[in-house]
Amino acid sequence: MENFNFEAVVIGTGFGGAITSCRLSKKWPDGQVLILERGKRYPMASFLRSPHDTIKNLWNVADEKRVPMQPLNKQQGGNTLGVFDLRTYKKMDALIAAGFGGGSLIYSNVFMPPPDEIFDERWPDSCKKGQLAPYYQVAKEVLGARPVPQNSDPRREIIRTGWFQDVADELGRKSELTDINVFFGNDFERPLEIGVQAKNRYGAIQTSCTYCAECNIGCNTHSKNTLDLNYLFVAEQRYHAKVLTEHRAEGIVPLDANGMDDPAENGRFGYRVYYQDLNNQVDRTALTGLPSVTTRRVVVSAGCLGTTELLLRCRDVYQTLPAISQKLGYAASGNGDFLGFAIEGKRPINPTYGPVITQRTDFNLFENFDHQRAFLLEDGGYAPLLAWGVEGFKPRFMFLGSIKRFIKSFINRWLRGNSMGSFGYAIADMLGGEMSTNSTWLQFMGVDAGDGRFYLNAHNEVEIDWPQESSMPLYQEILKTIKAVGEVVDAKYAVPIATWGKPLNKNLTVHLLGGCIIGTDAESGVTDATPEHFGQVFGYSGLYVADGSIVPTAVGANPCATISAMSEMVAHGITGLDGSFPDAAL
Ligand SMILES: Cc1cc2nc3c(=O)[nH]c(=O)nc-3n(C[C@H](O)[C@H](O)[C@H](O)COP(=O)(O)OP(=O)(O)OC[C@H]3O[C@@H](n4cnc5c(N)ncnc54)[C@H](O)[C@@H]3O)c2cc1C
Ligand code: SF4
Repeated sequence: MENFNFEAVVIGTGFGGAITSCRLSKKWPDGQVLILERGKRYPMASFLRSPHDTIKNLWNVADEKRVPMQPLNKQQGGNTLGVFDLRTYKKMDALIAAGFGGGSLIYSNVFMPPPDEIFDERWPDSCKKGQLAPYYQVAKEVLGARPVPQNSDPRREIIRTGWFQDVADELGRKSELTDINVFFGNDFERPLEIGVQAKNRYGAIQTSCTYCAECNIGCNTHSKNTLDLNYLFVAEQRYHAKVLTEHRAEGIVPLDANGMDDPAENGRFGYRVYYQDLNNQVDRTALTGLPSVTTRRVVVSAGCLGTTELLLRCRDVYQTLPAISQKLGYAASGNGDFLGFAIEGKRPINPTYGPVITQRTDFNLFENFDHQRAFLLEDGGYAPLLAWGVEGFKPRFMFLGSIKRFIKSFINRWLRGNSMGSFGYAIADMLGGEMSTNSTWLQFMGVDAGDGRFYLNAHNEVEIDWPQESSMPLYQEILKTIKAVGEVVDAKYAVPIATWGKPLNKNLTVHLLGGCIIGTDAESGVTDATPEHFGQVFGYSGLYVADGSIVPTAVGANPCATISAMSEMVAHGITGLDGSFPDAAL
């Protein structure tokens, strides 16, 4: 059968989906590639900010039975397809994103290839740092990774960066600025004035970063180099890929020679992809009756949880891809994520100014690698919205002094016959506290054991089994470091995230990896590591995975650089290694 609806269907638009969409739609332009994304688009100024509207920024879909959200959905009048998809599992909570651009919409912009040492025996020889190096380079160029500009403009001074540098010096650790995918103009040497707009090299309008620190709730000025402004922008605008947002892929079935669904086939006659429009009544219990398209090839890029869940359902529930490796779901990792807080230190940090991460401090990851205790500490800015929240959470008695002073001065003025006039001093007095400006979160990530597992629960929805104990040497070292940072800055409290404590004892990650890892065969992995078939699912021709799920271990560094490099490699294999090497001109 040669009469497919599409040459390729790409599922998901995070780093893996955006890169493969772009490269494949260049090879097969003008509507031959279909991109399915369950989340919404976020044009400039569309990320929500008010507490009430933030409800709509959460991902709650009634037929996903992960949490009993039906009452909330009723109150909202249906599904809310927001960007924040918060998941809670037994020993590991996770935050992932939904939207056209995937995790890039709310990530902290850091682009960091990991050190050579993480490419251990679990990485096949065809995919070590050396092979990936040119792909890291091209992704770095497209994503515009660079350190935050340093010049004499006082508005470019980020106090937080200096604070973390000084802490690192005190602890005898190396700290340096890190590359971030943020737009400061196209010319790296001469940054555009703050707030000035220009077209990026692909033609999308962006704003030179305004230092508002809202990167993790969505950049309303399009200053983050999110994927919808580069790879996806080109896929759609230049190569005319067809995009369906707010559509969730539900199942993949091989076709037979006559174009009929045939789970006994291996993809040589193409696939049918079932999906549904999330704005209509949705039901994911069966594939029959759902809309579908046929395609020569499929790239699954729905993120670790999305991809692994979709493939597990296809293998074990719908039984449409029964030959997928038994390794599916294994080697899950939280990339050593760990969150701490240094609260009310002696020095201002001003965490609500500047891109949310600007630097990294090395603890045996890049230098003196210690595979059980290799991690980074990165500075953690946060949105002013949260700072107001922090001040608001202060116990009321903390405001009593200011209120007393205000009443006293008001009475004095009234007695002098002058009760009216300026009262800004009273508000300044009330907000002059040090809670939000002298506190910060401490973001750690490192090399955990990567021995978790994604599996389906009784509702056929994905869960994480996280054997925390095997990564305990790493977490213990991080806990010691939280304490040490607290002592250096004389913080009132230096503590890990509350859910780490008893009785929950949970990790929180934003950097999930694994589940469909690359290997040399179906015994060692789910996806093929040979360059010409890179990312292809063992047992199925034309079915690929390109996203964080193919990464076989924790990488210690922020993972989007590695996911991007590996996804460039998947796309290169599909479009033909004999063709030209992928370049940043796209
Ligand atoms: C707050 C935060 C900060 C972060 N900061 C950084 C950072 O600074 N640097 C870094 O390297 N990494 C960072 N990360 C992690 C990074 O965002 C992820 O590692 C990365 O986005 C993973 O890319 P991916 O291609 O695997 O999938 P994702 O980016 O997760 O994209 C998957 C996409 O698939 C869609 N999808 C899922 N299921 C379906 C389906 N069935 N049908 C259709 N679509 C579907 C999802 O909606 C999503 O858009 C951060 C993450 C978060 C949440
Ligand atoms: S600091 Fe503000 S303007 Fe700059 S990238 Fe982050 S959200 Fe966008």
